[in-house]
Amino acid sequence: MMAQYLQIKAAHEGALLFYRMGDFYEMFFEDAVAAAEALDIALTKRGKHDGEDIPMCGVPVHAAEGYLLTLIRKGFRVAVCEQMESPAEAKKRGYKAIVKRDVVRLVTPGTLTEDSLLEARRHNYLAAFAEVRDSCALAWVDISTGAFHVMPLPSVRLGPELARLSPSELIVSEAKESELYELVSEFGIALTGLARSAFDSTSAEKRICDLFGIATLDAFGSFERAEVSAMGALISYLEITQKGKLPLLRPPQKESEARTVQIDAATRRNLELTHALGGGRAGSLLGLMDRTCTAVGARLLERRISSPSRVLDIINDRLDAVSFGFENMRLTRDLRETLRKIPDLDRALSRLSLDRGGPRDLAAIRNGLAEAERLAELLGPQDLTQLLSDAVSDLGGHTPLIDLLDQALVAEPPLLARDGGFVAPGYDAELDEARTLRDEGRGVIAGMQQQFVSDTGISSLKIKHNNVLGYFIETTATHAEKMLSAPFSETFIHRQTTANQVRFTTVELSELETKILNAGNHALEIEKRLYERLKTAILESATDIGQTSAAIAEIDLALSLADLATAENWVRPKVDQSRAFHIEGGRHPVVERALAQQSGDPFIANDCDLSAESDAANIWLLTGPNMAGKSTFLRQNALIALMAQMGSFVPASKAHIGIVSQLFSRVGASDDLARGRSTFMVEMVETAAILNQADDRALVILDEIGRGTATYDGLSIAWATLEHLHDVNKSRALFATHYHEMTALAGKLDGVDNATVAVKEWEGEVIFLHEVRKGAADRSYGVQVAQLAGLPDSVIARARVVLDALEKGEREGGATQKTMIDDLPLFSAVPAPPPPVQKTSQVEEELALIIPDELSPREALDLIYKLKEAA
Ligand code: ADP
Repeated sequence: MMAQYLQIKAAHEGALLFYRMGDFYEMFFEDAVAAAEALDIALTKRGKHDGEDIPMCGVPVHAAEGYLLTLIRKGFRVAVCEQMESPAEAKKRGYKAIVKRDVVRLVTPGTLTEDSLLEARRHNYLAAFAEVRDSCALAWVDISTGAFHVMPLPSVRLGPELARLSPSELIVSEAKESELYELVSEFGIALTGLARSAFDSTSAEKRICDLFGIATLDAFGSFERAEVSAMGALISYLEITQKGKLPLLRPPQKESEARTVQIDAATRRNLELTHALGGGRAGSLLGLMDRTCTAVGARLLERRISSPSRVLDIINDRLDAVSFGFENMRLTRDLRETLRKIPDLDRALSRLSLDRGGPRDLAAIRNGLAEAERLAELLGPQDLTQLLSDAVSDLGGHTPLIDLLDQALVAEPPLLARDGGFVAPGYDAELDEARTLRDEGRGVIAGMQQQFVSDTGISSLKIKHNNVLGYFIETTATHAEKMLSAPFSETFIHRQTTANQVRFTTVELSELETKILNAGNHALEIEKRLYERLKTAILESATDIGQTSAAIAEIDLALSLADLATAENWVRPKVDQSRAFHIEGGRHPVVERALAQQSGDPFIANDCDLSAESDAANIWLLTGPNMAGKSTFLRQNALIALMAQMGSFVPASKAHIGIVSQLFSRVGASDDLARGRSTFMVEMVETAAILNQADDRALVILDEIGRGTATYDGLSIAWATLEHLHDVNKSRALFATHYHEMTALAGKLDGVDNATVAVKEWEGEVIFLHEVRKGAADRSYGVQVAQLAGLPDSVIARARVVLDALEKGEREGGATQKTMIDDLPLFSAVPAPPPPVQKTSQVEEELALIIPDELSPREALDLIYKLKEAA
């Protein structure tokens, strides 16, 4: 067995080998050590290899999924090795023959399909990045849903795309592995290197054609060499990991960067689009917006938030659909009730295609398609928008399949096909007959038991069943004597004696047992055959079912956004090709929700108008104290633009947005210690990226540029950045700063306006009004904010004095700041603490003279006696 193990293991270097032995997956050698540690399970020994103990650990097969998940999360990949025959079959080949085993699947983060290993509401992408001569491309699949995409991608854009898609695994050629390692691990993506041959674009083309059964790739459109190479690498990786069983993939869809809003990784993070800064979904825009009823709808929402469109027709189609739901709330509610009953068709389909499905997946398809028809019935008679009517036409057409599944399946089938019991009675005559035989046999046995009881007069006699003996007659030991003697000994054949029981059989009973067994097995075989037939019928309509599923997702998303807009009081934005950016009564949806939940304070809505003439910038320079709401205002406007372009209503009373092509943000300061960059360095790298890339269709938000360095450095950098944005980038932008000096720029640059977040001062304290107004802030109120934060009074008082001096110096212009500070009386501002009433006692005086380090223990003891006396 060890020889077999080592041979299989050698073929799967780099993966833990789950070696099936009966009801367990066993691991040996280093695998066992690593797995025991990662899973926190016992490490034991089994046998010897080269004279050394073999470390071993194991997990029960029925609980394997949970362990698999833990291992995958911890960065392992697992090769699952199954028994390919039963021990009985092996014995037929020879007395000591070992059961045949083989790896049936390589489990990696990007190739999961089990519901328990996946998040229902998130995609699980496997991506491949390829480079052919000077061009590069990225392809990605979700084998749990069949989605398959590809696009050309210059390598500098790889980071932002990975941030957008957040795949769980990225495949690259071995040669590129080390070069990309840093970038990829920053996103927490598993990196897998494949031999260069997997990326060869000529064989890749053939691989794709074979998979889809087409003669030439042209059938799917035209692709660049690099794109073909990336797609081919994906397929070849799937062949390796799925051991030849390929998942059902949709034809590759070509995406283009030009059709979606470009958002870099930092901006995604800062705006907390799909993950809050804390890491979770809660607190993110996605968490707030998700009211979808189906898993497919939820995944579509995540895609939309990650990739808002910049194609006007698409945006307006989506908005029309949301408007329809918004205006027909009654119908929307009914439709959402129906949507809630729809299971995840894509994932059921994928499991069936990979032979990892079961009767429940058949039922999921049946139920889902039936509910889809119901949706079509409700929507059909309505005056629909383009998007909705397209979707409705994809919902139906499955009646024959639904009827077939309806007749064939019981209402709630069991999980596993293996145990049978999922085919409905009346569907297959042969099956019904076999089941009747089996069940009648069971009835006959009940009758037989009664007969034996009355024959023997032993009322406690029972006929029982277990897996070792099959059916047997059981009496307590006290009656054994009677059973073993005439006349009963002629009928009852002794089988087994246990501590308290004696077990028998009869010729009649064994015959009946064989009959029942045969009938039962026969029934199971028929069910298995029927399962295959139903599965095939489903897979033959896979393309149509996939389309229905996509239609369900569209409808669900549009209606959920309508429901959200109604509940949150959002409005439909006007989106066009202009360079408008005019928001009235805008709110930050996540902050608004948080305020409502935490303090009940209302969110103060604010206007923003960055509308610009063609070929000119419009920038608001926002000043105001910390905590006034500057960041919130900046982010809310970026979010409103993004929501509008993903096709959603927005949290405002009115919004007019000319299409935004790129969204940039530089918000807050976060140290990137892992990459050895200081706060200031991160800030400058991000600012550089913005100034180098932003165009006149970009929306830029910059918060506190230059904060991370010395005042004059910071001010100069902020100043020059704003000028560049205005003169060169010509973007629409919001620029928050605490450098008041910059407000002078509004007078110099046409496209710059001052705005401030208002505060009120009352009895020396600030009150935040959170109102954005035109004009510059009069001062920064930093000291007051510090006071609110609880800095000691003495520090606050001292700060006031320093501030006064500095401001005076500035006004008088003559003295340098340094001399002003030097002139300040030291600690003059500290209110002198009242002199403590002090009375020193003799003991205290004595104590003051003692130097403990110089005392011996003996002297110390004497001293204590002496002090005690004096006290
Ligand atoms: P700044 O960037 O000016 O330091 P923030 O934008 O971080 O201020 O806002 C500070 C806090 O003020 C937020 O956490 C939020 O609770 C509150 N806040 C901000 N804007 C508003 C608003 N428009 N209405 C109500 N509360 C707000």
